[in-house]
Amino acid sequence: MNEKEKVIVITGAASGIGRATARKFAREGAKVIVADLNEAGGMETVDLIKKAGGEAAYIKTDVANVQDVEKAVNFAAEIYGSIDIMFNNAGIGGRAPLLEHDPEKYDRVIKVNQYGVYYGILAAARKMKDLGIQGVIVNNGSTFGFLASSGGIIGYHTSKAAEKMMTQCAALELAPYGIRVVGIAPGYVDTPISKRPKDRASGKHMRNELIQPEAIADAVFLLCQDTANVINGSTVMLDDGYAEF
Ligand code: NAD
Repeated sequence: MNEKEKVIVITGAASGIGRATARKFAREGAKVIVADLNEAGGMETVDLIKKAGGEAAYIKTDVANVQDVEKAVNFAAEIYGSIDIMFNNAGIGGRAPLLEHDPEKYDRVIKVNQYGVYYGILAAARKMKDLGIQGVIVNNGSTFGFLASSGGIIGYHTSKAAEKMMTQCAALELAPYGIRVVGIAPGYVDTPISKRPKDRASGKHMRNELIQPEAIADAVFLLCQDTANVINGSTVMLDDGYAEF
């Protein structure tokens, strides 16, 4: 399918990786739904896309709310007639030392990062099946779904580990409908969420620098192409060789 006929819904597209991916897909000709809690940031992403000649629309969405996520998916079908790609990208950190944890904050991290992905898979898969679309669902995990740390983000690690398994299970169940489900596990990306000192984080990557959100956007774009259809159910490391060295 030509990129120009595609419609993508991106959660968390008011900033960082989501915004970079929205701009990438729009440049390639896709129509983009920017679904984010942050209205000002979401509208700014839409403006940036429109100024560059692309097509995009914003819908206020809290991914921790199942009705909101369904609305975002329905909105795509209403205004652009389709949903070919769902990028479940929105996420929060929730950093605090374990002994000082507020369980309500832990709940919120799980609700946004884990349920947000689950609701996105559910809403997109149902709509794709109803419309007979053999689409792609991309879930944003993290290297921190694979590696533990003592950085006070136990909820974040847990939610990102869940992403791997949700991606695999959903891919198995949705394969009969021709719907592909892929996860990504970025290393440290230069966005507002990465609060760790840049010099410490940079040294864990092979190129000794933080990853730029545009590099993640390019990789997501590649993963969504039909030529990548051998990649299904896996969470792909987009981490520039992230390691302790
Ligand atoms: P970011 O803070 O720049 O963007 C996150 C976006 O999610 C923001 O626009 C925010 O408004 C939105 N958001 C937060 N809660 C929401 C909610 N409940 N409903 C809807 N939108 C909500 O950070 P980012 O780095 O671009 O993060 C995007 C994703 O990438 C997250 O899932 C994050 O965990 C993941 N990730 C980031 C890194 C990194 O180093 N930056 C590494 C691995 C994975």
